[in-house]
Amino acid sequence: MKKEIAQIRQAIRDIPNFPKPGIIFKDITPLLGNGRLFKQTIDLLADRYRPQEVDIILGIESRGFIIGAALAYRLEAGFCIVRKPGKLPYETHRASYLLEYGSDTLEVHRDALQPNARVLIVDDLLATGGTASAAAELVQKLGGRVVECAFVIELSFLKGRERLKPHGVFSLIQYETE
Ligand code: AMP
Repeated sequence: MKKEIAQIRQAIRDIPNFPKPGIIFKDITPLLGNGRLFKQTIDLLADRYRPQEVDIILGIESRGFIIGAALAYRLEAGFCIVRKPGKLPYETHRASYLLEYGSDTLEVHRDALQPNARVLIVDDLLATGGTASAAAELVQKLGGRVVECAFVIELSFLKGRERLKPHGVFSLIQYETE
């Protein structure tokens, strides 16, 4: 397990000053490009959530779609998409949030969840937790229940975990400093 996590960590690339000066962007494309490590990442998440009766995964645009959809397949769960404004064709609910770099709004279809659905929120990375807490707000608007928020990467020094405390956080890899 430790060795697998270390290998996944090594496949994540730091891109300094992207998308703006001062940000170190965690680039998961080398991880996604390695079939064995991509599978390992999904399998480790699936091991945690298989016993937890997840009805549906809510994936956050856009890297949350990649991780979330693969995990949904593995868990035989549904998949629901949360997108940036103006992309979804049907009636939506909206929630706004602050990002590590800027602010944004998320949308979800009004009929995305069954009442009381057990929902796992998935994204590639947890920074300040603004994005995932907006996603959790959408789950609540839709009448679902958040099982947990799952990430491949957690930037622990930004304390997103505290912001998401009511929902619970799990991450495979943590960075304690920038
Ligand atoms: P936050 O709302 O602050 O938790 O930011 C999380 C969202 O922004 C996720 O969708 C991430 O993909 C993206 N993000 C924020 N900071 C970074 C970073 N340093 N590297 C890569 N993605 C990031």
